[in-house]
Amino acid sequence: MTMPTELEARFGVTNYAPLPVVLTRGAGCQVWDTDGRVYLDFMSAYSAVSHGHAHPRLVAALHEQASRLAVISRAFFSDRLGAFLARACELTGMDRGLPMNTGAEAVETAIKAARRWGYTLKGIPSGQAQIIACEGNFHGRTLGALGLSSEAAYRRDFGPFPPGSQLVPYGDAAALEAAIRPQTAAFIIEPIQGEGGIVVPSPGYLSACAEICRRHRVLLICDEIQTGLGRTGKLLACDHEQVTPDLLLLGKALGGGLYPVSLVLGRDEIWQLFEPGSHGSTFGGNPIAAAVGLEALNVLLEEGLIDNAATQGEYLRQRLQELPAQAVREVRGRGLLVGVELEPCAGGARAVCERLLERGILTRETRANVLRLTPPLVIERAQIDTAVEQLKLVLAEADAAPQENKT
Ligand SMILES: *Cc1c(COP(=O)(O)O)cnc(C)c1O
Repeated sequence: MTMPTELEARFGVTNYAPLPVVLTRGAGCQVWDTDGRVYLDFMSAYSAVSHGHAHPRLVAALHEQASRLAVISRAFFSDRLGAFLARACELTGMDRGLPMNTGAEAVETAIKAARRWGYTLKGIPSGQAQIIACEGNFHGRTLGALGLSSEAAYRRDFGPFPPGSQLVPYGDAAALEAAIRPQTAAFIIEPIQGEGGIVVPSPGYLSACAEICRRHRVLLICDEIQTGLGRTGKLLACDHEQVTPDLLLLGKALGGGLYPVSLVLGRDEIWQLFEPGSHGSTFGGNPIAAAVGLEALNVLLEEGLIDNAATQGEYLRQRLQELPAQAVREVRGRGLLVGVELEPCAGGARAVCERLLERGILTRETRANVLRLTPPLVIERAQIDTAVEQLKLVLAEADAAPQENKT
């Protein structure tokens, strides 16, 4: 029989470089490979598996809905979508939500909404709307999202991109204010940059940006696709600074680790500009997505996942102080969105991930030298202890063979 890795290498496009492990089963924070070895998942599919693998309530919601009614398109009402949107609005304080599937689609939708708002309500001359984004951002892989990106590796040879974007340094509110012009429709920001290397801005930055946006009549779009839904120890990362965005993007964990579900939430003033036919998605808001999304929100609250993220995140960051100082440049993050920036070492963070894999801990690097520690929000203290002990051992080894060349 041909190995699954060989099949993927032969027939798949190599736009990923997976670690050498073939996973076949998951439950909670654990996953198993095809040889029956068990691992602790400190990756959580880039924060999409906040509820843990195969959460029984979510699997039940998926099964039940899939066998009853799965996909009908938005050409008809479903008996599931309304309750999901109502719960999402109730929890976030927003008026309405537009369901899509992936995070990148939510970003596209927000860009369209902001532009339409800019032309219709702010009076920006047709075709001239600008969106300000932050250097180092990650908003997805579509051309619209890449149009906002500063990352050469994501953009190389994929242009031209849609015009109308402008970049400002992340963490610099004065730079945002200086960049705003009459044709600026929106400012899009991740409260913590996830893919950018788990970059946490100084306290007060987000609320300063919100105040600047309000004063200049610029929409604030918070991309909480990764930071939202308890990941940082509050329902939304915005909540740490009592910021209410004009448009709020959710995705990843909204699908309970089972299904792609994203949502753009916002105020009536914006959504009244979307008439029938102006936007859509064949699968967006389908009955399975709505049933799983609603149950994902309910589990998050009813099972205390947000508090657990705060408590265990604090414990994790405290224990990471024990890592060998020569190997670690910085530990940063909030809740269970944690990054360990390593000092340059042989093979970089990827080599550390490979050694962690051998020791039963799964994670990946973000950017070149930051180790991502983002377990499911159901992680337990003993599992954190295991992961930290293994990481200490790996870094002690890596430190034995230091290398000068920076990655
Ligand atoms: C992952 C991510 C996206 C893109 O989501 P996809 O579902 O991969 O399209 C957008 N924004 C942020 C902040 C993300 O972390």
